[in-house]
Amino acid sequence: MSYTILLKFGEIALKGANRAYFENTLLRQVRHRVKPFGKFNVYKSQSTIAVAPEEPGCDVDGAYGICKKTFGVIALVRAYACEKNMDAILRRVKELAPSLIGDAKTFKADARRSDKSFPLGSPEISAEVGAAVLSVCPHVKVDVREPEVVVRVEIRDELAYITGRQEHGAGGMPVSTNGKAMLLLSGGIDSPVAGHMICRRGVKLEAVHFESFPYTSERALQKVKDLAKTVAEYNGAVCFHTVSVTEIQEQIMKNCDEDYFTLLLRRFMMRIAERIARERDCKALVTGESLGQVASQTIEALTVTNSAVSLPVFRPCIGLDKEEIIERSRNIDAFETSTLPYEDCCTVFTPKHPKTKPTIENVLLEEAKLDVESLIERAVSSSRREWIQYD
Ligand code: ATP
Ligand code: MG
Repeated sequence: MSYTILLKFGEIALKGANRAYFENTLLRQVRHRVKPFGKFNVYKSQSTIAVAPEEPGCDVDGAYGICKKTFGVIALVRAYACEKNMDAILRRVKELAPSLIGDAKTFKADARRSDKSFPLGSPEISAEVGAAVLSVCPHVKVDVREPEVVVRVEIRDELAYITGRQEHGAGGMPVSTNGKAMLLLSGGIDSPVAGHMICRRGVKLEAVHFESFPYTSERALQKVKDLAKTVAEYNGAVCFHTVSVTEIQEQIMKNCDEDYFTLLLRRFMMRIAERIARERDCKALVTGESLGQVASQTIEALTVTNSAVSLPVFRPCIGLDKEEIIERSRNIDAFETSTLPYEDCCTVFTPKHPKTKPTIENVLLEEAKLDVESLIERAVSSSRREWIQYD
């Protein structure tokens, strides 16, 4: 059954002078994102964005699904249009009631008229609509104070609309309204979750992945690209950078103390990510690090990693337990891909006794054994870039 999707904005309503900018950005993004699902008229009306199908073949459920993943939308409602007379309205209410009510135990009917010439007043319309719902859903009770579902009828100038259950949207702010950041995307569970949290704050993400071919495989890289696809679902197309750190790892292994392998590599990753970020106008780095999760994520280790770069580093998972990260990973449909068993460059050469309390002085002594600048330059100049879209 076809319907119009109504989207309510969230936080963006609070943004004073920026409000129009946020709303227009959201409007443009919704227009763009529903395109693959058919021809829709997407327009603003008061504090709502309406997404109305314009031809019979439109995949409205598909469009609804993508709107639900669009940041800046706090709630979504399906609105079913019908002719503006009581017979038609009640017929439509009876058709829709079972799916609008679902398994709810209580409801109320609520009518609004912007067309004041309609022959019945709002209380009379509400009473008739309530009776119509009860006639097809006898298990549900009326509760005017705290109903689980409000069956709303709006009499507008052109048509009447019936709306039901309001669902939560993705919240946050429209992507791009807070600039761009570079996500360090591994094949693991944490980094896609970190990306999601930052993107939700209105930040457009690009992603950089470090591979260590031939120690890491083509399939491992493909897995990360698949993860980038799930990022693209909420972020929009992802500019994906692949950088080989094979030479860097080989040099570290050849010249440095094994206990520092991971930390040294992580500092290289941060510096390379920062280089590419600056070239691409990204104003921060994002990682999936979580305090104490592994040896390289103690306060001391994070201090050492941080001091390799000057861009701000966002670590939104820092205070989350692994279980909480996993739950978020499932919610964004990344978990299955993240847990496919392919190797990551970080796991290729793991020290037996990694330093958990490194000092920056000792790390610098180890780094002095390498030609850091030319290693970085070669890695950056051989990086590859491609755009990854969602399917
Ligand atoms: P994840 O589950 O995201 O892989 P992790 O717990 O395995 O995280 P680490 O391997 O120490 O932790 O990595 C910490 C963070 O460093 C990752 O969340 C990611 O942001 C970044 N990172 C690690 N490996 C890579 C890589 N090969 N390419 C890009 N970024 C990486
Ligand atoms: Mg990892």
